[in-house]
This record gives sequence, C-alpha cells and structure tokens, in this order.
Amino acid sequence: MARSILIVEDEPTLRETLAESLEAEGFEVAQAGDGRRALERFRADKPDLILLDLMLPELSGLEVARLIRAESRVPIIMLTARDSEIDKVVGLELGADDYVTKPFSMRELSARLRAVLRRTELVPEPNIPSLVDLGRVQVDLAGHRILRDGDELPVKPKVFELLTFLLRHPGQVITRDQLLEQVWGYDYAGETRTVDVHVHWLRAVIEADSSRPALLKTVRGVGYVLRRPGSL
Ligand code: CA
Repeated sequence: MARSILIVEDEPTLRETLAESLEAEGFEVAQAGDGRRALERFRADKPDLILLDLMLPELSGLEVARLIRAESRVPIIMLTARDSEIDKVVGLELGADDYVTKPFSMRELSARLRAVLRRTELVPEPNIPSLVDLGRVQVDLAGHRILRDGDELPVKPKVFELLTFLLRHPGQVITRDQLLEQVWGYDYAGETRTVDVHVHWLRAVIEADSSRPALLKTVRGVGYVLRRPGSL
C-alpha cells in the first residue's frame, strides 16, 4: 500500500515540484497552501507523514505543528529557512520528527523522509519492566546495568543502548540501518559494520554460546531480532 504524504507549502511552484517528485517515488500526495487548509487535509486524509513549511499564511507552521501534535503522533518533517535556528528548536520541541533546511535537494528530502517513515514503523512495547530476566543475565534498565548472579558485568554504553532498544522492540526484525539511526543517530557517519561489531559484543554478554545465539538472532540479509523475554 502506498504511504501518503501531506505537503504544506504556500509557494505553489515548490509545492508542485515536491508533489510531482514524491508521486514519482510512489507516494500518495495531498497538498495544502496554508495552515488552515493543512489542518483540514490532515483531519480528512490521515496522512502517514506531513511535510510542513514553517512560514505560512493564516496559521504559522509552528502553530499547525502544535495543533496536529495535540491530536496525533503522525511524523512531521519541517521545512525551514536557512537562518531560522529558533524555529527549528521550537519545532522540534513541539514534536516535529526532523527538519530540512531550504534550499534542499530532492535526494536529501527523500532520504530524510524515508528514514522518518522507517523509524515510526517500529512499534515500541508500551510497558517493559525495569528489570528484565534474559535467563543467563538480568538487565536493570533503570540502573543501566547488566547483572549475572547479582554481579554487574562490564558493558560498553553503546552495547547497553543497543540492548535497551532491542528490549523495547522484542520479536521485531530490525535492520542494521534502523539500528544505526536509532542507537547511533541517523547522522552518525558510521557503517552498518559498527552494528555487527556491537551485536557481537552484546552476544558475548547475553548468550550462553554466542556462536549459536538463542536470544539475538541474525535475520540473513536483513538485520536482527531479539526473542521476546518470557517466550524463551
Ligand atoms: Ca512559505
């Protein structure tokens, strides 16, 4: 099924160009030229993502973002002018997921947009206990510790973050790119090999036999999946 995107931009040429490019990439596209229309379209179409220009007539982009956030977790990418540093900060505080600074290339926008869509496809577990028993080790999420028989094991911070992320998404196949984005940050200039190295370290801690992992499995050609604790 095509993902749908609402483009909110008052400059008609830019809006049309964006719409054509995104349609060519297979997205379903709706458009709005001002803040009020943006809210109407958002409520009527329930888009998968909103591209939101900040300088808009009627209602400002920040106001639109605030009103949408009061109703929905739909991903928002803000389109900002080069010099509006404050708008970016306020926008992100209001709950925008990312921003792209004008002028931008379609390639950059498309990459950001796909990253945000991928990120929001992952559904975190609503409630996980602060102490998770993985059998061989216990994970103290609140205390950032991994314990075996009550003793704390030395673990690198990124390895712990990786484990935390996986524990929040048990049973979900997660790609290396998603892990890079989520654990290292998408602008991290690393490679997916970084993920594999940390997975190797993590397995050494949590698996009884890390050459035959029972908890953190490799999904060939895709990424990794952590078995749901309790279903071991
Ligand atoms: Ca504008």
